[in-house]
Amino acid sequence: MAVQYDAVVVGAGFGGMGAAIQLKRLGLNNLAILEREDDLGGTWHVNRYPGLAVDIASVTYSYSFEPNPHWSRLFAPGAELKKYADHVADKYDLRRHMTFGAVVNGARWEEDEAHWVVSVEGQPEITATYLLTATGFLSQPHRPDISGIDEFAGKIIHTTAWDDSYDLAGTKTAIIGTGATAVQLIPEVARQAADLTVYQRTPIWVVPKLDVPIPSAVQKLFSRIPLTQRIARAVSSGILEMIMVSAVLHYKQVKLLNKGAAAASRAFLRSQVRDAALRKQLTPDYDFGCKRPTFSNSYFRTFTKRNVHLETTSIDHIAADGIVTVDGRKTEIDTLVLATGFNLWDVNFPAIEVIGREGRNLGKWWRDNRFQAYEGVSVPHFPNFLTLASPYSYSGLSYFTTIESQMQHIERLFGELKRRGADTFEVTEAANTEFLDRMTENLADSVFYGGSCQTARSYYFNQHGEAAILRPTSTRNAFVEAKRFPLEAYSIS
Ligand code: NAP
Repeated sequence: MAVQYDAVVVGAGFGGMGAAIQLKRLGLNNLAILEREDDLGGTWHVNRYPGLAVDIASVTYSYSFEPNPHWSRLFAPGAELKKYADHVADKYDLRRHMTFGAVVNGARWEEDEAHWVVSVEGQPEITATYLLTATGFLSQPHRPDISGIDEFAGKIIHTTAWDDSYDLAGTKTAIIGTGATAVQLIPEVARQAADLTVYQRTPIWVVPKLDVPIPSAVQKLFSRIPLTQRIARAVSSGILEMIMVSAVLHYKQVKLLNKGAAAASRAFLRSQVRDAALRKQLTPDYDFGCKRPTFSNSYFRTFTKRNVHLETTSIDHIAADGIVTVDGRKTEIDTLVLATGFNLWDVNFPAIEVIGREGRNLGKWWRDNRFQAYEGVSVPHFPNFLTLASPYSYSGLSYFTTIESQMQHIERLFGELKRRGADTFEVTEAANTEFLDRMTENLADSVFYGGSCQTARSYYFNQHGEAAILRPTSTRNAFVEAKRFPLEAYSIS
């Protein structure tokens, strides 16, 4: 039977849409974009909790080839990102390729047919010459395995499944978690709930968010003279690149920035919280940068409100009507918000079962060996497969850098296939090993290995203690390599 699609793209977030735009530019129009949710937008469709906003300036957190002059603020609220995703899908004619509610269980490479067989829950299998997974990094919600949680009689909400119809007004709410999500959410919930207890296991570094509305005159300027927005993007991206290269990658050489940021966060905390004991509880004991730092003007101050309590004693169990800490105290609640983040290393790499040549199971192989992918996109033994949310693929501080460098990689690789009239590629063991060795070596100077990160409990680290998400190079290097990687890195036939 003839193969059904040129390519299947799993995921209709910004990553999957970027890949699809590139494939269409290359003439691969027979695409299926499969999305498990009921709409496009990935993270920006799933996350709708109060306070959601980007914390990378919006001029940078967007496709460079599709600037949006209408961002209302320097850091746009989440709903504007969803709207932008809708606009991109329409403009690049992606919707007709998308199927929503399509839960992909797995995919396997058929050696004889030289194609992928993709299994989708409740549907017949589909076949494609190429498979691209764009399933995101933070897409498998982590629900904590706390004893008694299933017996809780009140309302439980995970931040990735916000219930807009649920009124928090007058509730006795608990929030578990103090990551980037909680930092945005806590001030909002504190405004509504009668009583809020925040369960913190690990404090987080928070610095002020220098956010301002973008006046309509500036929006008009961006719209009429796009060069002005490109300049704004270049400035904001340049600052991020400087931070990434110095504070993250060259921590051993330039600790000053991390120490300065930590000092700024402590000073900010002092300016917001008078109570020294509370300040101590809110102060991290790991280096700035080990865990993703966050931005908020109201987070620290919220803990000084009369209706807000910070609980740092470990949770023992959850009862039907409250949370009991290990010292035996029970806090009665009716609403439990899980701001407990995502599971990356057990279930997300990869998010679906992928079986390559000679039956190699990608998830098992990554776990038995090391997490790895050539240039963060391809893996030996997995022909015609690009894994876009991979170890060492996240480049720079804005996700769009990752997406666009991967689009370049796709362009070079598929362009070469076209030139040679070929249709199968597979990265060589040698290229993959060289890349992994180089990334490992580069990490030695980073904050992850040079800094004091033992107590950070950061999801940047996997179960073997490797910081295997971020690509430890400049974004410039990522783009250069995406454009010029040696074609011998792939066997093409
Ligand atoms: P997260 O950073 O992984 O934080 C999860 C929180 O839940 C942590 O404080 C963690 O404590 C706590 N937790 C998990 N299990 C627990 C348990 N059993 N008992 C007690 N506490 C528990 O997740 P997130 O806040 O959702 O953020 C994830 C990422 O999403 C961010 O780092 C960022 O990349 C992205 N994000 C971005 C934005 C933005 O751009 N505006 C906003 C939100 C999120 P420990 O630290 O002790 O494990």
